[in-house]
Amino acid sequence: MQRVLAVYAHPDDPEVSCAGTLARWADEGAEVHLVICARGEKGTQDPDVDPVELARVRGAEADAAAAVLGLASHENLGLPDGEVDNTLELRGRLVERIRSLRPDVVVSCDPTAVFFGSRYVNHHDHRGVGFAVLDACAPAASSPLYFPEAGAPHRVPTIYLSGTLQPDTWEDIGSTLDRKVEALRCHRTQVGEDLELVGEVVRRRAASAGSEAGLAHAEAFRVLGL
Ligand SMILES: [Zn+2]
Repeated sequence: MQRVLAVYAHPDDPEVSCAGTLARWADEGAEVHLVICARGEKGTQDPDVDPVELARVRGAEADAAAAVLGLASHENLGLPDGEVDNTLELRGRLVERIRSLRPDVVVSCDPTAVFFGSRYVNHHDHRGVGFAVLDACAPAASSPLYFPEAGAPHRVPTIYLSGTLQPDTWEDIGSTLDRKVEALRCHRTQVGEDLELVGEVVRRRAASAGSEAGLAHAEAFRVLGL
């Protein structure tokens, strides 16, 4: 694996979903690139927060987390929070990134996951970005008559989907678990000030995912080979 492109909706999504895996792949020599679609300016329960300022702070949080994980690049497409839809425009922008970076692996959210148990509805933007990524990969990026201005066609051979109800692949994150915790702690606007608790939750979830695959700590994915 030489190049990886991860595409998520909000600045903290990759840290929650797949940061241990991305950091391990980077450690193993892969170029890992990240595209975030939305600025995250609605990511608060406080009605007095200035959304422009929140977006600025979250951009800085994403910069710090990317440095912890060793990403080769990260960018934000600047879409409004809560409005990440599977549009022609977003697919075109993703196809342009896919064709210019030519990744071996694309990582995103499983858009078919709507309910996690009976207490959580998957965020609209997570479903929007997941479907946009799938459509951008297959068939758009590999088909020359889709977005002909967006570069030479590229076939993405492998897609990793996180946040899935149908995991079939578990990546060992034992060597990068501490950095996943550190990267998530960079998103202070989202995780708050109880940094001990952040570590506990990340370790507990990684242990739970790992237990399904005989690993101490893992992240789970649904993997498509196209
Ligand atoms: Zn999110």
